[in-house]
Amino acid sequence: MTGELFTVTAPDEDAMVALGARLAAVCEPGLVVFLDGDLGMGKTTFSRGFIRSLGHNGAVKSPTYTLVEPYQLEALQVFHFDLYRLVDPEELEFMGIRDYFGDMSVCLVEWPKRGLGALPLGDLVITIGIGTVGRRLEFEATTGRGKRVLRRMLATPAV
Ligand code: ADP
Ligand code: MG
Repeated sequence: MTGELFTVTAPDEDAMVALGARLAAVCEPGLVVFLDGDLGMGKTTFSRGFIRSLGHNGAVKSPTYTLVEPYQLEALQVFHFDLYRLVDPEELEFMGIRDYFGDMSVCLVEWPKRGLGALPLGDLVITIGIGTVGRRLEFEATTGRGKRVLRRMLATPAV
């Protein structure tokens, strides 16, 4: 399924953090964001910008071994997944995956393809690759919710 596309360059780490914050500012409960791209592309950096902009003051690290890190933020519950080490999507069923992907929380998922079959669809799929400078991000909105959020994001100026 193809959706609406938005492509943007993040020339450096600060720009990546700012993009995460820009998405966070327009997101809504229930949103599922997939972060695709190789190791070192900036998925966690983007997530850090997202989570810290919502009021989290501590570190944001890839929850590689624990698979998920919860953040209870002022306005929103955020779950940050990193499925890099997931061996079998069935592990997600044992974790009670459905409790995370509810209408009340936002989920950011690194390495979503590892969880294929057990994960719900991503509303917004962000694919990160190398840019002419820094990184190139492609946002694809594949659901009504994703499109709504992406349209709001495009209506806010870049910082
Ligand atoms: P991932 O979670 O995709 O493995 P990280 O977020 O851990 O990647 O980032 C890996 C490295 O890339 C970090 O050193 C980070 O500072 C750097 N980085 C992140 N975004 C950018 C960018 N837009 N341009 C250049 N370097 C970046
Ligand atoms: Mg990471």
